Amino acid sequence: MKPVSIVRAALAAAGLLATALPAFAEPPAKELFGAQHTAAAMPSQSVGFYSRGCLAGGVQLPEDGPNWQAMRLSRDRRYGHPQLVAFLERLSREAAERRIWPGLLVGDMSMARGGPMPSGHASHQIGLDADIWFQPMPNPRLTREARETFPFRSVLREGTFEVDDRIWNDRYRDLIKLAAEDPQVQRVFVHPGVKKKLCETSGRDRAYLNKVRPIYGHNEHFHVRLYCQPGSVGCEDQPSTGTGDGCGDLGWWFNVALQPPKPGAKPFKPKPPLTMAALPKACRTVLAAAGRGAGEPMVAAAPPARETGVPATASSYSGATPGGFAPMPRADVPLPRERPLR
Ligand SMILES: [Zn+2]
Repeated sequence: MKPVSIVRAALAAAGLLATALPAFAEPPAKELFGAQHTAAAMPSQSVGFYSRGCLAGGVQLPEDGPNWQAMRLSRDRRYGHPQLVAFLERLSREAAERRIWPGLLVGDMSMARGGPMPSGHASHQIGLDADIWFQPMPNPRLTREARETFPFRSVLREGTFEVDDRIWNDRYRDLIKLAAEDPQVQRVFVHPGVKKKLCETSGRDRAYLNKVRPIYGHNEHFHVRLYCQPGSVGCEDQPSTGTGDGCGDLGWWFNVALQPPKPGAKPFKPKPPLTMAALPKACRTVLAAAGRGAGEPMVAAAPPARETGVPATASSYSGATPGGFAPMPRADVPLPRERPLR
């Protein structure tokens, strides 16, 4: 064999080998996307589905705005579609103007190029999901350092699935309602106990409740999801939440989903991590694209005095605070993705 043929044969063998390998031999997409800390320099587009996709041309929520603070900055998860950033600005401003809350503590959005995250969320992949803490922005504001360790706080009474009335008040309801009534919002996720409280306290003004969906976790924060935005041709819509208030079918959550598993029940098995092959092809382009330069003005905001000293790397996150960002049940609990449709 000539040297060239040997090389060709070797390449072919390698190619064959690569295609013959099972999918789980590929590096998980969460590692590839988790290593990205610049947005892809492309027009802003959400690609794929909320739990299976990526984000081109993401913009970053400023660390501080007139009525918000971004939390856990070292996680580097403050990216989103420009409309998500605009929504958070709008919600925080309106909440302050209506004297609901003085400001929002904003948790995870998406990573710089979206994609599956190394820890925490199944969704948040296409720049249209954001977590908002169930705590008003403190006065004085939190330092950057304090935002790394400021404790999560559940709104549920300890050991129960009921909202703690020593914490909860109508302002919490009004904030969720304001979010759900925003025309850009597709749905809002809260703990079933929170949904129950909303059902009990919304009176006749309850149309917004159809967008508020019960889900595991989400007792320390609520999660807002926007619709696919114009221009995102590869963005997959999620089915509508319909028109009912969803208050009649909470029993399944309390009686089944949140209960300890029956003896002998099949344990919940986490799915294997997504590979690039499982994501839309365009996500390879997003992953390989040049990064957008640092310091480019992307979203107007009023930055307060900055402290320094917190490295902006996801790896510096201590990771020692489960719950607030882990909307998953214990590993032995069967996992419904959504409440059953009525
Ligand atoms: Zn979330």
